[in-house]
Amino acid sequence: MTDTRVAVVGGGAVGVTAAHDLALAGADVTLFERGDLGSGSSGRAAGVLYDAYAEDVDAALGARALERFRRLSGTNGFVFEECPYVLLARTGDDDRAEAVRDAAERMRVHDRPVETLSGAELGERFPTLRTDDVAVAAVASNAGWTDPASYVSAVAELARDAGVEIRTDSEVAVTTTPPGVAVADEAPVTRRYEAVVVAAGAHTKRVLADAGVAVPLKPYRVQALVSRADYDGPMWYDASAGVYARPHPDGLLAGDGTVPVEADPDEWERDADDWFVDDVTGTLRDRAGHDPDVARAWAGLCTATPDGDPLLGEVAPGVFVAAGWQGHGFMRAPATGEAVAAQVLGAETATGIEQFTPDRFDGDETFAIREGMTVETDGRENGTDSRDNGTD
Ligand SMILES: Cc1cc2nc3c(=O)[nH]c(=O)nc-3n(C[C@H](O)[C@H](O)[C@H](O)COP(=O)(O)OP(=O)(O)OC[C@H]3O[C@@H](n4cnc5c(N)ncnc54)[C@H](O)[C@@H]3O)c2cc1C
Repeated sequence: MTDTRVAVVGGGAVGVTAAHDLALAGADVTLFERGDLGSGSSGRAAGVLYDAYAEDVDAALGARALERFRRLSGTNGFVFEECPYVLLARTGDDDRAEAVRDAAERMRVHDRPVETLSGAELGERFPTLRTDDVAVAAVASNAGWTDPASYVSAVAELARDAGVEIRTDSEVAVTTTPPGVAVADEAPVTRRYEAVVVAAGAHTKRVLADAGVAVPLKPYRVQALVSRADYDGPMWYDASAGVYARPHPDGLLAGDGTVPVEADPDEWERDADDWFVDDVTGTLRDRAGHDPDVARAWAGLCTATPDGDPLLGEVAPGVFVAAGWQGHGFMRAPATGEAVAAQVLGAETATGIEQFTPDRFDGDETFAIREGMTVETDGRENGTDSRDNGTD
């Protein structure tokens, strides 16, 4: 289906990918972004990338995303830095240790290159890490990191080359039946499209609610910091401490700091909390012998759904949603943007995407925010939520 007129709402990692793929497939695409490209969560993300998921569809999306990240590396200023990812649990934290073992086992079932190591073996492999208190570690080798903002700008440039009209500083309201958008600062005119993709991140629920479509999404704060002290080791997530870290051009980037409380997508605290900085700097000292020199610390928003899975699909005729990533939205964006573009065009999508259909919910569900990065030990499926392995 070519020449389909499509509006994409949101210029984050998902929106630019979808717009790019739609244009390459021949659609006539306009992307509307209320601020600058990447000014939402994508510009605040940590940029930890891996495909070490235990669920079929998550593993497939993760692998596809990494394939695209690698292919893009070297284009328009985007670079994918290869780096292994270590998920570990401490001695005495038996439930999490068991969850890490189970998760690694299930990742291997999906042919993900993941090894299970003891603390001693981990120490031999990565001498920069403190490992004497580690009960077990899962080491994923198909992983890396990047600057998320550079992905957005690189793909946006490719999207422009493919013919996408990108309109920044253009907040829109969405309408359904027929699909359309109205730009806030323009005369009250609704532009009609054959399809509208709402990839508006933390604003998605509000944008769709204003269009009369209810989706169960809650924005919540997560936090990160950059320390200037040198760090030359793998990426790691200490599940017992709930802290992750990765190398950064200035030293090291670390985070977690989930605040599992629904945030207002406009009114929220952009700076990191003091408790978060204290917690993380303590863990960095313990785990990596890293004496932190905090250059900056910040917060951003992730979006939760009742079951921890995204909302990816049609919510009204010709109106599609792509949101609810629960903290893993950046690393999967090349695959989820691709998937929603395929859905719009009626093309084949990756196996399993259909389980993310938004109509599995009524939209008015009450639910608690599941933290985006814990290794859960509450017996969910195999005892761990394999998506929540520390990467936001
Ligand atoms: C501190 C932190 C660390 C993170 N680390 C990671 C990580 O390591 N790996 C990972 O996978 N994920 C991570 N995440 C999560 C990740 O940032 C998000 O899941 C991802 O960026 C979502 O991308 P998106 O395109 O869906 O949304 P966004 O990037 O938020 O883009 C949505 C865009 O829509 C725009 N918009 C909203 N309303 C309108 C409107 N009405 N009209 C026009 N435009 C509109 C917004 O301005 C915004 O730019 C992290 C998040 C934070 C906060």
